Amino acid sequence: MTDRPLSGKIALVTGSNSGIGLGIARSLAARGAAVALNSFTDRKEDHDLAASLAAETGSDVRYIPADMSDGADCRRYVEKAAEAFGGVDILVNNAGIQHVSPIPDFPVAMWDRIIAINLNSAFHTTAIALPMMRAKGWGRIVNIASAHGLTASPFKSAYVAAKHGIVGLTKVTALEAAGQHITCNAICPGYVLTPLVEAQIPATMKEYGKDRETVIRDVMLARQPSKEFATVEQIGGTVAFLCSEDAAQVTGTTISVDGGWTAL
Ligand code: NAD
Repeated sequence: MTDRPLSGKIALVTGSNSGIGLGIARSLAARGAAVALNSFTDRKEDHDLAASLAAETGSDVRYIPADMSDGADCRRYVEKAAEAFGGVDILVNNAGIQHVSPIPDFPVAMWDRIIAINLNSAFHTTAIALPMMRAKGWGRIVNIASAHGLTASPFKSAYVAAKHGIVGLTKVTALEAAGQHITCNAICPGYVLTPLVEAQIPATMKEYGKDRETVIRDVMLARQPSKEFATVEQIGGTVAFLCSEDAAQVTGTTISVDGGWTAL
């Protein structure tokens, strides 16, 4: 087996200039895939990041901006990436945001934005990528859900709804692609210490009236029996497994990377 088993494959990773998405992009590029790095920001740093990932991994990594809160832009991202690289083999729907608030106070615009970025974007990208994968006779779609795609927590109504939704979308996509050498699965991480998690610590401290260390130990990792955050490298490695031939019959399911959270 080659140490670059994804050579020749083209991977699109939404929301990949930071956190888990960047970890996934790095994992796929290190295994030889060409990667379309994405965010909505379109700054010089984003293009520089793609160049440095290309230099680090020896793979073709390019930054393609698109706003995953906008359905038409999601669709354009897949079209532009396919045009730039010559098709799509792997689609990782990772872009996501969070907001923590009780339901009566939950800002309506924030509800809509979370559903748009965390759920609707995956529908739009999949709608464009699936026919391209069918044309090639091979494909892998990996949706980054969450332990919150399988369980709930208070104050995270939009996020939990979107993540349960993406688990459902994963199953439907897998059924529609079955028998075509195209799989679709969801990864359900527990807490991974990324900018998204870092940003919700102050709001959670406020909701629970506790200090940072107590919130991390007793609230965030309360349901993660390992008492350790998962890492972006572990999520990247799980995506790489799902892209391998060993995983050809793994489809329509969820893989938890949550330190035992959903076993409780
Ligand atoms: P992060 O904030 O570090 O990264 C989010 C990424 O999404 C960034 O690259 C950002 O640029 C991108 N993004 C945000 N809005 C966008 C938009 N409108 N258009 C395009 N890109 C956009 O967060 P993260 O923790 O790495 O989260 C990544 C995914 O993993 C999310 O779907 C999140 O729900 C999921 N997840 C995270 C954890 C965790 O503990 N960190 C746990 C379970 C699931």
